[in-house]
Amino acid sequence: MIFDILTLFPGMFSGPFDESIIKRAKEKQLIDISLHNIRDWAVDRHQTADDAPYGGGAGMVMKPEPLAACIESVKALHPESTVVLTSPQGRRLTHRVATELTQKPGLIIVCGRYEGIDERIRSIYAEDDISLGDFVLSGGEIAAMAIVDSVTRLIPGALGSSDSAESDSFGDGLLEYPHYTRPPEFKGLSVPPSLLSGNHEFIRKWRRKESLRKTRTLRPDLLSKVTLTREDRKLLAEIEQEEAHGR
Ligand code: SAH
Repeated sequence: MIFDILTLFPGMFSGPFDESIIKRAKEKQLIDISLHNIRDWAVDRHQTADDAPYGGGAGMVMKPEPLAACIESVKALHPESTVVLTSPQGRRLTHRVATELTQKPGLIIVCGRYEGIDERIRSIYAEDDISLGDFVLSGGEIAAMAIVDSVTRLIPGALGSSDSAESDSFGDGLLEYPHYTRPPEFKGLSVPPSLLSGNHEFIRKWRRKESLRKTRTLRPDLLSKVTLTREDRKLLAEIEQEEAHGR
């Protein structure tokens, strides 16, 4: 997967993309990330990338010419790639959207700044528009990092053999079960006995049940969308009984 990121602040990416899973995915050549400084495409002496909004009002708007030149040059290098804008007005980044994006050969991610980009860039080039959620960030860089990270960990081979994307939250439509590590007792709280049993079937069942319990408590909206097995329904009935008895 080829990621091209168009930004006014390429320096923001050096930490997050040089550690851990993203770093390893780059080394394994599962992904390739190129940063493009939009300012390099500004033609005037001051390399201006923004201008005052037509109609007046606060803030500045990213000028269309440098962005268009930058998008066109990157698209010429990677014609198969999809141009993705980052914006609080886009469709929400979810597990489903990240999974869908893994199917693309490449993404050209445009990071806005100030009040955003000239709308004509959207009209001409945008093939997708992604939002992290209903809040406003100062720029698209953090959104671009979230897209690259969430998409990369779904690419087969990106996670080490000990990690798994399938059992992660949302992988099967549910939230993931809780995790514990040593010591067996911490500040008076014990690790659930099933996890210490060494019995794989006990462990699998406990994890499934706790995954259902967490989803039922924290995200009942997700639970109503998954297809439950007979075992799931039985486990949910047990959970309901337990909670009715205050356990
Ligand atoms: N004036 C715009 C917000 C601009 S914020 C509005 O009210 O809709 C500046 C830039 O930050 C945006 O162009 C976008 O690239 C990025 N950004 C802000 N919030 C975001 C969010 N929730 N998701 C993704 N990108 C966001």
